[in-house]
Amino acid sequence: MRLSRYFLPALKENPAEAQIASHRLMLRAGLIRQEAAGIYTWLPAGLRVLRKIEAVVRDELDRAGALELLMPTLQLADLWRESGRYEAYGPEMLRIRDRHERELLYGPTNEDMITAIFRAHVKSYRALPMNLYQLQWKFRDEQRPRFGVLRGREFLMKDAYSFDLDEAGARRSYRRMFVAYLRIFARLGIRAIPMRAETGPIGGDLSHEFLVLAPSGESAVYCDRGMLELPIPGDDIDYDGDLEPIVRQWSSLYAATEDVHDIERFERDVPAERRVQARGIEVGQVFYFGTKYSQPMKAAVTGADGAERAIHGGSYGIGVSRLVGAIVEAGCDEAGIVWPEPVAPFRVGLIDLDPADATVSAACEYLYAQLQARGVDVLLDDTGERAGVKFAHMDLLGPPWQIVVGRRGLERGVVELKRRATGERTELTQEDALARLS
Ligand code: ATP
Ligand code: MG
Ligand code: MG
Ligand code: MG
Repeated sequence: MRLSRYFLPALKENPAEAQIASHRLMLRAGLIRQEAAGIYTWLPAGLRVLRKIEAVVRDELDRAGALELLMPTLQLADLWRESGRYEAYGPEMLRIRDRHERELLYGPTNEDMITAIFRAHVKSYRALPMNLYQLQWKFRDEQRPRFGVLRGREFLMKDAYSFDLDEAGARRSYRRMFVAYLRIFARLGIRAIPMRAETGPIGGDLSHEFLVLAPSGESAVYCDRGMLELPIPGDDIDYDGDLEPIVRQWSSLYAATEDVHDIERFERDVPAERRVQARGIEVGQVFYFGTKYSQPMKAAVTGADGAERAIHGGSYGIGVSRLVGAIVEAGCDEAGIVWPEPVAPFRVGLIDLDPADATVSAACEYLYAQLQARGVDVLLDDTGERAGVKFAHMDLLGPPWQIVVGRRGLERGVVELKRRATGERTELTQEDALARLS
């Protein structure tokens, strides 16, 4: 992409309404634009990040055996009456009437609808276990939308739903998602810690929240320092194998959000020097809720013995749009965003210091074409701005690598390669720079 042809509406001033770094930087870099409280447009560069996160989520869930579908954002209120939570859900639900006075709602979550889909088509235990997921926008009329995409009203969620014949099967499905979550967050370049959690309006008796530690987090969290060092399951993970040892390892150390925190246990089980008290951003949550929806909605299958039983369910959410903000919170500095490689809108920012100079421009064109041919996402700053402005702008946008091309370097046969995270700069030939990045 050439910056001169791109739509990256960066702001010069710090937006007054943005209290935390990720909100400020996402607005300033031109990733998002606020349309109403908690409602955002994803501008081209922001959308690239969102899509990269989606791709990792999809890849890992598909590997774990889940099947993607797409449900509508609008749902019938009657479905929620059937499951018994239409009234209970409260003012977070956006209730809508169509021209025929039919009551609809903009889905805040989809347990009810997926249960209706399942019961209409699956009748036998042979189809189980089944896990269906989607990446779809949700709406929750949050009391205090704030912190940009961290707490939006309209937000993108990955929601998965598992169906099993009995509790033992459902717990296997739960473990599969637990392990997939460990891998997804690690692949996105962040560390999210699973913590025992309250089940809230989704219901059920077993749940973990995954939290990224950050001072701006809305939850107080308590854990054993050991949680920060546990190994992430590798690429060779077998999702059909026994995942119990992994989940046991990850749930044996103390880790709890404030809702379920037990001070006595914390002080008894965790030595003082290993106690971490911090703030966290909830980026995902997994629930096992048994027959909470299948009972009232009569979602049953016939078992091997011919008897009908209500299925055991679980649901598994990831805040995809919230993750963009959480990743920025976890990696930024005074100059701007520092993207982890897997989600960066561009992997390389290529800076042309003298667009008026034919030799410099030719070198940039060459590098630009070569990087693209090697499948590297590159943004070429070919604008007529001053060098200082270009440097500041590229640091703000945060691609993990910058290549700076100027006349003086070229005369000595070199370009400069800068690593955004450390600021470390190396002079090397164009060919060596290309080799380092492909
Ligand atoms: P929170 O405690 O932050 O209100 P939640 O527990 O109500 O979140 P869940 O019902 O567990 O949310 O939804 C699954 C995921 O969706 C959450 O883990 C979070 O990452 C994301 N999410 C929930 N609410 C929002 C929101 N208002 N804006 C952005 N992402 C959200
Ligand atoms: Mg909430
Ligand atoms: Mg929560
Ligand atoms: Mg939650």
